[in-house]
Amino acid sequence: MALYDFLRDAASAAQKAKNVELFQALLDAQQQALELQTENVELRKTIEELQDSKALEEKVVRYEHGAFITFRDDERNIQYCPSCWGTDMKRIQMKRWICETFKCHACGNETNPRM
Ligand SMILES: [Zn+2]
Repeated sequence: MALYDFLRDAASAAQKAKNVELFQALLDAQQQALELQTENVELRKTIEELQDSKALEEKVVRYEHGAFITFRDDERNIQYCPSCWGTDMKRIQMKRWICETFKCHACGNETNPRM
């Protein structure tokens, strides 16, 4: 990081000049630069996750019955729990339960596309 390197060099120069106040101020600035860098990395990661989430959400196929969801790019057309997807964006496959009913083993959501 160029800013951090600049502050390190400036702190070194202040130390050589025996300017204690300037040296301390530059050390503080270095620390703040590191904190900003860390925050910047975290924010970039959050942006990337949000972009990934949005891209995934655009692939979701929702049905009027709301019993399950599928994904456009899934050739097997697996039926996933809409509740788990809505809560944590987890793909939990719905299992055929009794008659026309589907059940999610993760959250216990029971649905019937005919109801
Ligand atoms: Zn579920």
